[in-house]
Amino acid sequence: MIHASEPTALTRPGAIVPDISLASRLFDELRRRTGGPGGITRTSYGLGEQIAHDMVRREALRLGMRAETDAACNLYLTLEGETGGPAIMIGSHLDSVPSGGNFDGAAGVLAGLAVAAGFVAAGRRPPVDLTVMAVRAEESTWFGASYIGSRAAFGTLTSDELDGVLRAGDRISLGAAIDAAGGDTARIRTGQPYLDPARIGLFLEPHIEQGPVLVAEGLPIGLVTGIRGSFRHRHAACHGTYAHSGATPKSVRQDAVLATSRLVVEMDAAWQALQDAGRDLAVTFGQSATVPGEAAFSKVAGRTDFALDVRSEDSETLDVMRAELRRIAGRIEQQEGVRFEFGPETGSTPAKMNPAVIAEMAVLTERLDVPARAISCGAGHDAAVFARQGVPTAMVFIRNRNGSHNPDEAMEIADFAKAAEVIAALCETWGSADTAAAA
Ligand SMILES: [Zn+2]
Repeated sequence: MIHASEPTALTRPGAIVPDISLASRLFDELRRRTGGPGGITRTSYGLGEQIAHDMVRREALRLGMRAETDAACNLYLTLEGETGGPAIMIGSHLDSVPSGGNFDGAAGVLAGLAVAAGFVAAGRRPPVDLTVMAVRAEESTWFGASYIGSRAAFGTLTSDELDGVLRAGDRISLGAAIDAAGGDTARIRTGQPYLDPARIGLFLEPHIEQGPVLVAEGLPIGLVTGIRGSFRHRHAACHGTYAHSGATPKSVRQDAVLATSRLVVEMDAAWQALQDAGRDLAVTFGQSATVPGEAAFSKVAGRTDFALDVRSEDSETLDVMRAELRRIAGRIEQQEGVRFEFGPETGSTPAKMNPAVIAEMAVLTERLDVPARAISCGAGHDAAVFARQGVPTAMVFIRNRNGSHNPDEAMEIADFAKAAEVIAALCETWGSADTAAAA
């Protein structure tokens, strides 16, 4: 997969060349204006996010694009297309976590802007309207709610959330924050959608990779196959019986630590088997502890508390693991004389990315000699909201060191350029015979 690649856009006659210097200049300005010694902070519906929105609006207007906002202050920057068919939307969010990095979110918006600028520089229109969307309030760290901007755009943000959800730090309600930013919560409360899924031919979210896969494999970009859903037990427990460690024979012990450990090991084996069978899965026991004050060095443990997080791109795989959990736990209960109590289940539904669009992008990466691989996405993104609305949706991951949500995010601009080049080619050929299956 790893091979040297030339800047092929420049060598394809008439190809749209994304304006990488524009994006690079905006990344620098974002860092200067929304960063500090501790990292980047672009608060949802706060100062940093607003600075970022104002910047991309300013640049889009310079390019002759049309700027619109909806009632939740999501920003839509549109370059008019040759025809009036369903639009191509490229976007992501411009907020960040507190003391985060410069690229999470912003890379997606600036990739869209770079591609639009490429069309403008070439004096050409995209085949259909090309709308760069800057989504509001994606980072749930601020309001404790997911996908605020994109759900508002589709009319599914609720009055309960507008009134009941408060921003970390200043404790301002979501509704008050939206109105203060110039939005119109009265309109959001009507549930009237701003976006019509039928008018969107493609939603594409470029984003930095938040895991280590592309760095480890030496690949500049990844084509996301799906956004993982999950089922979780945040407050699970294993009940055994406390007993003297020296005086209690093995045959009569009801050891909660042993039982929990067996559960962890056997769930791991079930994961391995499904992964070997080609399924996408991640199983994590992120917390596991005995009870302070009850447990002791010389006691058989009578109780453990633990948390379980199971994620997959595929609903059926989640169902299989849910059944495996019951089966394995039931057997361990019988053998070890303990009782598992899993508590309430929470989770989310997986979102499939559009296979035809992924296939088309795979063809383009080969044609452009950009090394890439299919990759699963383990974190939530606005793309999931678009996919669930029935919009053909895709994500491109850009190689990034050191993970995300921290000041050490490190995306190379050369990798960003490769992603933008593939996206430009996709936009340029959108709706032609090549992409007919996808459109
Ligand atoms: Zn993000």
